[in-house]
Amino acid sequence: MSSTLDFDIKLSDHRVPDAERERMLADPGFGQLFTDHMITIEWDQGRGWHDARLEPYGPLSLDPATAVFHYAQELFEGLKAYRHADGTIVTFRPDANAARFNRSCERMAMPPVPEELFVRSLELLVETDRDWVPTAEGHSLYLRPFMIATQRGLGVNSPSSSYRFIVIASPSAAYFTGGIRPVSVWLSEDYTRAAPGGTGFAKCGGNYAAAFVAQAQAVEQGCDQVVWLDAMEHRWVEEMGGMNLFFAYGGGADARLLTPALTGTLLPGITRDSLLKLAHDMGIPAEEGRISTDEWRAGNASGELTEVFACGTAAVITPVGRVKGRDGEWLVGSGEPGPVTMRLREELIGIQYGTHPDPYGWVHKIC
Ligand SMILES: *Cc1c(COP(=O)(O)O)cnc(C)c1O
Repeated sequence: MSSTLDFDIKLSDHRVPDAERERMLADPGFGQLFTDHMITIEWDQGRGWHDARLEPYGPLSLDPATAVFHYAQELFEGLKAYRHADGTIVTFRPDANAARFNRSCERMAMPPVPEELFVRSLELLVETDRDWVPTAEGHSLYLRPFMIATQRGLGVNSPSSSYRFIVIASPSAAYFTGGIRPVSVWLSEDYTRAAPGGTGFAKCGGNYAAAFVAQAQAVEQGCDQVVWLDAMEHRWVEEMGGMNLFFAYGGGADARLLTPALTGTLLPGITRDSLLKLAHDMGIPAEEGRISTDEWRAGNASGELTEVFACGTAAVITPVGRVKGRDGEWLVGSGEPGPVTMRLREELIGIQYGTHPDPYGWVHKIC
């Protein structure tokens, strides 16, 4: 059975020395540094998943005619390992990442990775490179499982007949630097991220490749991030860059939340799903629905819409302070982080770092 594959272990002879690693971990940035090892597992039609290894981190050698370079049959995931105060290292809902990975696989005509094998891969890499999990507050080891099509040849009539699943790990500081500074967003009417029937719900690199030009336009417009709208009317809000959005109405005991429903064109964030549950438990009704850019603007103008924030694994929760579109710009509330945003952020981070109770068993102990 592929889910009980044994890993061949080849430890690196060139591990980064302790003192240098400590120096690197003091200021890791995001996604720039990588640990000493990686996981690779091969798949082909005859054998299924086989040849699972833990090996030294290093370059891949692939034929220039390998399918992934031409037709972008590629998928990824992103999650983090956290170090608790007692030294325990955990991840957060890795089973949910495995399930989402496999939903993405189905859309991209790629073979699913058995959930146990997916989670075991993460565990093995983190156990081996545990010294790379940072200790500083808000820092973590970002885990990047991904899969590429490895068949050689330029035929386009069928998916690749072979694949490689890989996991790498990157010690990381908070994604947006400078604490919880609110971001400004540009409403993208010129570009579309995803259309019905497309790959919007799948975490595939191609979605990002097509998004960079819109992100560049946002920056040209003086904004930090792009907000995607629906493909048909460019009116309904979908998500922000690589994060999902939440809208808070009212305040105090009357606060309630809305997040765009999963229509197939947005990415079903695990942070989004977690916050829907936590908000409810904290007495904040949270529903899935839809909001147009006109409603967003009118809600901020009347004061009924009090806070907006984006959420995702990398940056956790990031307040949105200012919105700009073709028809002008406006502030969200005072432009500063709001109380609902901050309460949810504290609760989620508390669960992840082990300082708050974990009622749903989301925290998965590794070592
Ligand atoms: C990964 C991702 C998210 C956030 O998902 P999480 O599981 O919360 O990290 C949101 N939008 C896009 C486009 C993404 O790729």
